[in-house]
Amino acid sequence: MAADKLMVNRATFDEVILPIYAPAQFVPVKGKGSRVWDQNGTEYIDFSGGIAVTALGHCHPALVEALKSQGETLWHTSNVFTNEPALRLASKLIAATFAERVLFVNSGTEANEAAFKLARYYVGKKHSPYKTKIIAFHNAFHGRSLFAVSVGGQPKYSDGFGPKPADIVHVPFNDLEAVKAVIDDHTCAVVLEPIQGEGGIMPASQAFMEGLRALCDKHNALLVFDEVQSGMGRSGKLFAYQHYGVVPDILTTAKALGGGFPVSAMLTTNEIASAMTPGVHGTTYGGNPLACAVAEAAMDIINTDEVLNGVAERRQQFEAALNAINSRLDVFSDVRGMGLLIGAALKPQYVDKARDILNAAAAEGVMILNAGTGVIRLAPSLIIEPTDIEEGMQRFARALEKVVKA
Ligand SMILES: *Cc1c(COP(=O)(O)O)cnc(C)c1O
Repeated sequence: MAADKLMVNRATFDEVILPIYAPAQFVPVKGKGSRVWDQNGTEYIDFSGGIAVTALGHCHPALVEALKSQGETLWHTSNVFTNEPALRLASKLIAATFAERVLFVNSGTEANEAAFKLARYYVGKKHSPYKTKIIAFHNAFHGRSLFAVSVGGQPKYSDGFGPKPADIVHVPFNDLEAVKAVIDDHTCAVVLEPIQGEGGIMPASQAFMEGLRALCDKHNALLVFDEVQSGMGRSGKLFAYQHYGVVPDILTTAKALGGGFPVSAMLTTNEIASAMTPGVHGTTYGGNPLACAVAEAAMDIINTDEVLNGVAERRQQFEAALNAINSRLDVFSDVRGMGLLIGAALKPQYVDKARDILNAAAAEGVMILNAGTGVIRLAPSLIIEPTDIEEGMQRFARALEKVVKA
């Protein structure tokens, strides 16, 4: 018989978890598709997608089946032994992208850590050990290891942890002239999110992306795309770079890759990968069969015309609803992003109300996110039902109205 379950609730969080989060007041206990239920049985429509992770909603039958069947077959081997799910998933990622080599790790941070280390290692060997400068962008977010927060462009995440990795410079996003002013023959890599996520849902311009590729080529520097948030169908293509036709040297992806099972990947070319040899980098869990089996099932569904084209249709429905709300309440200064990574920037008088709006939305039964300062972010399932969009937007409108009229 199973042991009695300890009674826990939201108050338990404040007693047992490291105080680095401020979670909502309700505790989700169950999810199905784009609906979630809390401990009291209250139902919510999920526009948060676990921060752009649950790309096929909650408990998608194909993912549950992959997890169950792999769970009864083989859980873990370590990288002392390879495994079939990892080899299959890598082959499919290669077939669908510019990449020729894949590294599996466990989080967005780890994929970026590997990308930055690989860039420094390859360029150091190929060109010069002094060619180490990494150019990154204000408001960028690349994860929480010391290297990742240092390449990230938000000092509040990197200050206070002691000396930072050196030779990283930050310039304004979408400002090619600013990059030109700092790029030189000591530059190792330019690192960016094609759509800045945590920074406020800000897509790179076409000219910026093309300009960066040309500058990197001119200075023998690598172009690294962090598609941890924008990848795996979120933009309406498998990867956002495919909208621009600008190909990176290294790409990282994570959030939606496992549809909710922790797994991430770094993709690169044979040439760059050839700098590495056994033992130079590694991880115990990376490429775990359970994670890769679920991710393969997720990718098989996401990387289809049906799902990718559906993203554009759903975006239109969200945009129409947001515009209708705005013509009534006049709260947004901008609706932006790509595909189902949607940012609604609040007008100046509401910029500090994002938290209140999140809470009001929860009270009305819809889960949403914020990003950057004063930007409401929606990152729902890529296959969310149109009826869920409609009902969720009605709930969101009621929540906004309460905050605006308060
Ligand atoms: C979430 C995110 C990360 C960090 O991923 P973790 O899995 O939280 O480590 C890195 N880059 C971008 C663009 C992200 O959105």
